[in-house]
Amino acid sequence: MQKYCAECTSCKKQADATPHITTCASCGGILDIKYDYDAIKKSIGRKTLEESRDRTMWRYRAFLPVSDETDVTGGLRVGNSPLYKAERLGEETGLFNLYIKDDGFNPTSSLKDRASAMAVVKAAEAGASVIACASTGNAASSLAGSAAKTGFGTYIFVPSRAPRGKVTQLLVFGAKVISVDGSYEETFRLSAAAIERWGWYNRNAAINPFLMEGKKTVSFEIAEQLNWEIPDYVAVSVGDGCTAAGVWKGFYDLYAAGLTDKLPRLISVQAEGCSPINNAVEAGCDKLVPTEENTIADSIAVGVPRNFLKAVMAIRQSNGITVNVSDREILDAIALMGKTTGVFAEPAGAAGTAGVIKARGNGLIPKDASVVSIVTGNGLKDIKGGEKAAGSPILVKPDMNALLDGFEKAGVIPDR
Ligand SMILES: *Cc1c(COP(=O)(O)O)cnc(C)c1O
Ligand SMILES: [Zn+2]
Repeated sequence: MQKYCAECTSCKKQADATPHITTCASCGGILDIKYDYDAIKKSIGRKTLEESRDRTMWRYRAFLPVSDETDVTGGLRVGNSPLYKAERLGEETGLFNLYIKDDGFNPTSSLKDRASAMAVVKAAEAGASVIACASTGNAASSLAGSAAKTGFGTYIFVPSRAPRGKVTQLLVFGAKVISVDGSYEETFRLSAAAIERWGWYNRNAAINPFLMEGKKTVSFEIAEQLNWEIPDYVAVSVGDGCTAAGVWKGFYDLYAAGLTDKLPRLISVQAEGCSPINNAVEAGCDKLVPTEENTIADSIAVGVPRNFLKAVMAIRQSNGITVNVSDREILDAIALMGKTTGVFAEPAGAAGTAGVIKARGNGLIPKDASVVSIVTGNGLKDIKGGEKAAGSPILVKPDMNALLDGFEKAGVIPDR
């Protein structure tokens, strides 16, 4: 017997979690992987983790849906991203126990690497040789990177608005890139039709239930890095909803297997111009009402979230908070986080922190609460966002008078 199976989030029917499985065979619903926690408990604990020398996300293999025979060592080095105590940012925001989990530290510079590392392992189990996906950018670039390392071909569909940094990553990693002149929703539908037609392995968000399982390893790391002191809040930016649901699942797994005795509350952060998941949570309803995709944070510009139900349930189950942030608040968070922590986030990567700042400002979180904000992607992927956040340099001719003039114009009084 496998230690895991698949269960439909809508009709609750169970099925064998074969490597090819996508959505529910009876109702088309999104599947969730379920585990036998009693069996898991026997093979992993705080002590085995302490002794483990594997510093990748696969150190948590006992909690992951891979067959015992599968070799997971051939991929990029994903996981073990730093968790920083953000004292200076905490002072600025009035939070004394604020942490930044910098997942932009992963090999292709986003949290999506955790899902893509899983995707190539499951594609190998499925005997596939080509993997495809639609993506706002990072799922694509991470898949292309992981596929390049492990030898899969990739067909990648991105909306034409995807930032150049991410598209360049794709091309460098040798993906066949299809830039779709349309919204993410239209891009997704075209990719689904192509996957159907050519039978590629499907790495589309939520449609493939294994991806979220890779993403949940970020929570295992947070728990270990905090010496198993589970934080009061974990903030994450939300697009399709797989990251938020994965973050919750990771903490839930640890709790269910008896490694921890506390669960955090999620802070679900969306953009004001695109907040279908937060809208549903706030309205207390399970119906997805699609919205526009109106935000600078391209990675969370998802008007029709693919993992809607799981994300809504995760936020509710965690007794979570919803916060919508404006583009201005996102840009301010990029700049403030940059100059107080040394972490450079892309807009969606800073949105979680923008949400923390806003929630603290509104009195939604107490000043002594422990809060982890996950930075989901590195700022070098989207230079335009960084420039909008941080302004321009002082431009001078190469002589001292020009420098003095430049300082004066910029209002800079040089100190020593
Ligand atoms: C994909 C992504 C998100 C959101 O994850 P979802 O699973 O789509 O909710 C947030 N930030 C970054 C940088 C991303 O790439
Ligand atoms: Zn179903």
